[in-house]
Amino acid sequence: MTRRSILIHPDPRLKTVADPVASIDTEVRRLADDMLETMYDAPGIGLAAPQVGVLHRMLVMDCVKNEGEAPRPMVLINPEIIGVSEEMSTYDEGCLSIPDQYAEVDRPAQVKVKWTDLDGKEVQEEFDGLWATCVQHEIDHLDGKLFIDYLKPLKRQMITRKMQKLKRDIARGKA
Ligand SMILES: [Zn+2]
Repeated sequence: MTRRSILIHPDPRLKTVADPVASIDTEVRRLADDMLETMYDAPGIGLAAPQVGVLHRMLVMDCVKNEGEAPRPMVLINPEIIGVSEEMSTYDEGCLSIPDQYAEVDRPAQVKVKWTDLDGKEVQEEFDGLWATCVQHEIDHLDGKLFIDYLKPLKRQMITRKMQKLKRDIARGKA
């Protein structure tokens, strides 16, 4: 497994609609392993392929937070939301591509998602709580959408300017 570097907003690849995964081959399996390692190392609870510069519809997540609870690494290939609850929930979201910035986002509290797993099998599951927020946030990445796109323009611009500065600092070796 190799840790991959995570793109920081703004980056055109984070604004691009990703292509479906055509077949589950060695390369896709390796990418899944690398993405899980990158996510756990960050640390984060979800990561979408475009965040590591691969424009394919694939994401990993593990929202198990309680100490002592077994991890649940999940790999979702070509995920699709097939049902949402009317009930909404608000979560203070962050993103590995927008480090140290958090904002409240409203999303459906429960979602039903279908995807293909690494064995090529079609799977369906209902998510709620943090899992529901996370899976919606990650599927948004596959459509070139970031959580800051839900914020008011002023707040979004403020965060984007901070990220531009962070990227300049990284480029100069200061961060
Ligand atoms: Zn994100």
